[in-house]
Amino acid sequence: MTERVRTAIRVEGVVQGVGFRPFVYSLATSLGLGGLVGNDVNGVFAEVEGDPAAVDQFLASLARDAPPLARIERITTAAMRPDGTASFAIAPSEAGSQRRTLVSADTATCEDCLAELADPRDRRFGYAFINCTNCGPRFTIVRDVPYDRPRTTMAPFAMCERCAAEYRDPADRRFHAQPTCCPACGPALSLRGAAGAVLPGEPLAATAGLLRQGRVVAVKGLGGYHLAVDATSETAAAALRARKHREDKPFAVMVADLAAARQLCEVDETAAGLLASSRRPIVLLPRLPGTGLAAAVAPGNRQLGLLLPYTPLHHLLLAAVARPVVLTSGNVSDEPIVYRDSQVAERLGGIADAFLTHDRAIEVRTDDSVVRAFRGREAVIRRSRGYVPEPLALATAFPRPVLACGAELKSTFCLARGNHAFVSHHIGDLENAETLRSFTEGVEHFRRLFDITPEVVAHDLHPDYLSTKYAANLAEGRVAGAADLAGVELMGVQHHHAHIASCLADNRAAGPVIGVAFDGTGYGTDGTIWGGEFLVADLAGFERAAHLAPVPMPGGAAAIRQPWRMAAAYLDAACPEGQPDGLDVTRRNEALWPGVLQIARRGVNSPLTSSAGRLFDAVAAILGVRDTINYEGQAAVELEQLADPGEEGAYQATVGADYPFKIFGYELVRSVAADVTAGVAPGVIAARFHNGVAGLITACCLKLRERHGLTTVALSGGVFQNLLLARAAAGRLESRGFSVLVHSRVPCNDGGISLGQAVVAAAGGRPR
Ligand SMILES: [Zn+2]
Ligand SMILES: [Zn+2]
Repeated sequence: MTERVRTAIRVEGVVQGVGFRPFVYSLATSLGLGGLVGNDVNGVFAEVEGDPAAVDQFLASLARDAPPLARIERITTAAMRPDGTASFAIAPSEAGSQRRTLVSADTATCEDCLAELADPRDRRFGYAFINCTNCGPRFTIVRDVPYDRPRTTMAPFAMCERCAAEYRDPADRRFHAQPTCCPACGPALSLRGAAGAVLPGEPLAATAGLLRQGRVVAVKGLGGYHLAVDATSETAAAALRARKHREDKPFAVMVADLAAARQLCEVDETAAGLLASSRRPIVLLPRLPGTGLAAAVAPGNRQLGLLLPYTPLHHLLLAAVARPVVLTSGNVSDEPIVYRDSQVAERLGGIADAFLTHDRAIEVRTDDSVVRAFRGREAVIRRSRGYVPEPLALATAFPRPVLACGAELKSTFCLARGNHAFVSHHIGDLENAETLRSFTEGVEHFRRLFDITPEVVAHDLHPDYLSTKYAANLAEGRVAGAADLAGVELMGVQHHHAHIASCLADNRAAGPVIGVAFDGTGYGTDGTIWGGEFLVADLAGFERAAHLAPVPMPGGAAAIRQPWRMAAAYLDAACPEGQPDGLDVTRRNEALWPGVLQIARRGVNSPLTSSAGRLFDAVAAILGVRDTINYEGQAAVELEQLADPGEEGAYQATVGADYPFKIFGYELVRSVAADVTAGVAPGVIAARFHNGVAGLITACCLKLRERHGLTTVALSGGVFQNLLLARAAAGRLESRGFSVLVHSRVPCNDGGISLGQAVVAAAGGRPR
């Protein structure tokens, strides 16, 4: 008989609440090993004892065959003295703090649960809340840690005998599945009318009936309420748009499966992987023509956001409706998504004809995530449900715990300690009391879940952002529930430096790089509004090496809402000897044009900006795309849609000779105006403009490479959500020998700012 060995094993990462202990149990018993497995504050520990070959086989399988939701960060082993144990046991959980362990993200219904859902002999057949250790709600139901049922919104549901038996059985797929339940003991659906009365009939079938009749139904999901309509019904989609006061922004569409997705959009392999992943984000895809989808779903858009069902409720609903369904955030206009049952009637009563709801509470408001494929990788545009609160692994550790407060639009915060950066779910535009409350409560919730007490708090330089004020209030001990942070060290981080640092952290890089940060608005170190910036930057600091030549924003914020004002300012800069005659944009706005020119020239309420977003706005207005916008970035989005992808021409513009270099974006505008006057097709002009901007970026980076010797370029800022520009810029840069870093795990827009602030603070950031 060979000698027995015993090995102690520690597994760190997302390994609790994901079926790790039953996996270890069945692996060990199948190999005839004795020992134990348990959870503690650092993750999972195990000891296995037996034949050396079997122990080796156990160790080899441990990482390779781990349960699908586990995210193993590290496995360490140590030899022990065998004690003759032949049986294998699951050790009871220790009482006390388990906060260093990680809460997993919400996860789409697994194949095993789907099979049971569809099996008439199964006791959970057709049950809208089926889940197991491999799938189901997590982050959205967790109230506190350690993660177990009494600390989730499943607490009010006492398990029935059969569910409890599965929960206790280490060999069962539902062993310690905290949200497990069945029709006998778990949550139940109800369909209510606009007045709150329960409607007759089986709720899912009745909901499907209403949708097929063209009604608007509010549907309670994982992180909030959605508004649903039949995506093939023109009147239903138009009614939803009108009631929601959402004039143009595209709606997302849920389809039953990949085959249904392929009937609406081009779905390549990368996109299929994203659609079907257990995170189940909305994936932006190129639309196919003539699909029978209502025009009001995504008016004038070449792209469509699709997602597959991610809860059993969605699977059942889509099967019953048997058509694509619009599934958009349950809110009015730009308010946060409704997630509390008590607010639904008041806030969605004027929009929805009925409410498909249930009695499991949502703890954390979480929107659907939005992604797309870019350069063969996932590019996250909104990081929320399915991704959060999974930490981002970075190249270097945080020497001390950090809270980063983000910016204003598409707000997120980031708490970081050790090797982990926890970027929050998308909170929305931090412009009102409701989103500020979500932000404040979110910070508290994350601090509790991950046991982080920040020693430094990073914030934007903009003095008027609510996130900046929040940081100041924290340090002064004026935030309720966070009085312990009074006196905490504050660190202001310049907006575009945070963008570039975010792109570096996203790519596990440290720089220095040439950072191209193109966005709408960011507060500069000189008090002007930046947004067309070339920074020579690393994590610790930056130098403003080049930027778009500033132009006035006539009327300040009004110029953001009314791109035609930027057209006036840019045309004035482009043609100082007199603006070209016969431009429609001038004619359309002739009553106000001279006054706007006057305040721009005199600098009255016309702050200077180097914003790239405003340059795109100006060109959009000149091309007649639109004079006013209904949502942030709309003019630029539509300009991209207009551009003819086959046009290779590019307008030229100059990079100035003096350092820091100025880039004369208005020269592009001069070419745009000339081609408009000459009657060139708008799609061709839009493409030549995009190519011109990409050419300018490349020309400027070449000058900076000559001066600084840097060969890597990081592209960040919301303007790079523009695929046409991002592709053209990255392609041109690579053809000139640059390595190009783009975002993948966090958004290039302001949703990524908090991560950038956190890594700058960790590096001891300072302006140079
Ligand atoms: Zn499952
Ligand atoms: Zn049960």
